[in-house]
Amino acid sequence: MSTLGSFSTLKLDKVGRDFGAMNVLKDLSLTIRRGEFIALLGPSGCGKSTALNCIAGLLPTTRGSIWLDDKRIDTLGPEDRGFGMVFQNYALFPHMSVRDNVGFGLRMRSVAKNEADKRVAAALATVRLTDQAAKLPGQLSGGQQQRVAIARAIAVEPPLVLMDEPLSNLDAKLRLEMRQEIRRIHASLGSITLYVTHDQDEALSLADRIVVMRSGVIRQIGTPEDLYQRPASLDVAEFMGFRNRLPGRVSSVMGERISLDFGGDKLEGMAREQLDGKGVIAAIRPDDLVAGTSGVPATVEVCEYRGHAFFGAARGPGGAELFFRASQRLKPGETVHLAADPTRVLVFNETAP
Ligand code: ADP
Ligand code: MG
Repeated sequence: MSTLGSFSTLKLDKVGRDFGAMNVLKDLSLTIRRGEFIALLGPSGCGKSTALNCIAGLLPTTRGSIWLDDKRIDTLGPEDRGFGMVFQNYALFPHMSVRDNVGFGLRMRSVAKNEADKRVAAALATVRLTDQAAKLPGQLSGGQQQRVAIARAIAVEPPLVLMDEPLSNLDAKLRLEMRQEIRRIHASLGSITLYVTHDQDEALSLADRIVVMRSGVIRQIGTPEDLYQRPASLDVAEFMGFRNRLPGRVSSVMGERISLDFGGDKLEGMAREQLDGKGVIAAIRPDDLVAGTSGVPATVEVCEYRGHAFFGAARGPGGAELFFRASQRLKPGETVHLAADPTRVLVFNETAP
């Protein structure tokens, strides 16, 4: 049984983890409130799983401390933290029924049979698998198996549910359905869900707040809207889908509003950091760089239909590759003019760290 009971916040205070000489986690500090769904988002290899495993107690930390309210937990073993874990590969016992898989953690904790049966039934009901309880995992679909893994994690009534890319092995349609399920299950538990993913869409659709990591460092923490509309640095912007990077020079500044010279053409945007006066990069989503009659001239290279619009790539001034949206099909070799709403053009220093 978890000895931790109810709590209101999970706090990471400058948590670090080294592997040999490699600093894989660097001073992670983060406070999560009960009831929050947090996505830990970052490219492969940035340290997401390491962070999750340190929180679960599966991996010792090298520096810093982890707290549930005023109780320090990084010194406890994983059993004493009692967190629920869900992994990418469901890690179910193939020879055990669904019911026995879900009850495994409770048996390990010597929970009385009556109580254990009740909790298994409740967990199976939460993931909507009551009628599959007697089957073996191999008789279920991938999505159902992952729901068994979630039921196993929540049956122990953990204060924290940790999920490490739980949907990566599922096909696209099932991933969408399971997102809804996971969100619903989170709401029904009222605990904290910490969800690791490298998929921006997943993080945006699931999380109350997103923690963006890169190279073992937290780069930004914010709501999905914050991260999508107001990335605070160029690397976060790129990761959040600002695929266009236009190198320019500042020609005038009016508060946040910046006029740029981009290869002789004018472009307006919003400064997202203190600009040091040298070269800058304007970051724009393909969706916000629109083909029309005015703007930066470019030569179309490809243009494809995506249902709600056409999307293409073009060569702009100085050979810059530009990704844009169009309302009609454009031919390769054709000249287009690309423009963006200045509020959708984010300007960063060229040498942003
Ligand atoms: P992510 O989950 O974001 O893809 P990981 O946390 O798995 O990243 O890994 C972060 C970095 O730490 C990687 O460079 C990885 O190679 C390294 N790493 C992870 N686990 C170990 C280990 N047990 N020993 C040595 N290096 C490791
Ligand atoms: Mg990982």
